[in-house]
Amino acid sequence: MPAATAVGVGLDSAAVRNRMVQKLAAGGITSPAVLQAMATVERHRFVDSGLVNQAYEDTSLPIGLGQTISKPSVVARMCELLLSAESARAGGGLARVLEIGTGCGYQAAVLGQLAREVYTIERLRGLHDKARDNLRPFRLANVHLMLGDGMLGYAKGAPYAAIIAAAGGDAVPQEWCDQLAVGGRLVAPMALTGGQQVLLVIDKTPHGLKQSVLEPVHFVPLKSGIA
Ligand code: SAH
Repeated sequence: MPAATAVGVGLDSAAVRNRMVQKLAAGGITSPAVLQAMATVERHRFVDSGLVNQAYEDTSLPIGLGQTISKPSVVARMCELLLSAESARAGGGLARVLEIGTGCGYQAAVLGQLAREVYTIERLRGLHDKARDNLRPFRLANVHLMLGDGMLGYAKGAPYAAIIAAAGGDAVPQEWCDQLAVGGRLVAPMALTGGQQVLLVIDKTPHGLKQSVLEPVHFVPLKSGIA
């Protein structure tokens, strides 16, 4: 079946994607590398066939097992924050990145365009398998999928230039900070006291951790253990 028929997003999904990218730029995303990555990765290949027509809208969508693929604007925003890490600016790009919460694999594919190596960990076997299937046609040799509890990070790949969480908890696990390289940056949704979830940025400097609280966000909960 020709791809255009299979995807149902019109004859040219690149045109639809470019419109999405224009909206991201209008919304404040300035990094050419991030905009390029968002233009490259075919988000419609990561959602169920009934949802492909919404794949390029700025909305989160269900991916099964009660989880969601994040909105394009949030994916772009978080990736842009990672690229502004001290080590990424000094090194001309991102070295090794850890993603907590592979989900359908979309953000991992975007990160695969931006980083030298991407380690992504998912606690739900069904989604880990789905992400593997979704990512196979892209043949991204630098994206490594793991089944496991991302609350513990992934020590084997450490230290990371960046850690990005796609699920929100009440506190940043110590392991994440330990596994971050000096000059590296962590971006994660986190609940403040009172329950409001915000985007948190932690920079690991030679003098210690520096934390910034950014805008409110809505992510699925970070949970422990494998299921
Ligand atoms: N980046 C994903 C978003 C998935 S939603 C995408 O592009 O599709 C967040 C994911 O985090 C869910 O799949 C959820 O199962 C997973 N998750 C939650 N807690 C986790 C943990 N401790 N370790 C690994 N994955 C976790």
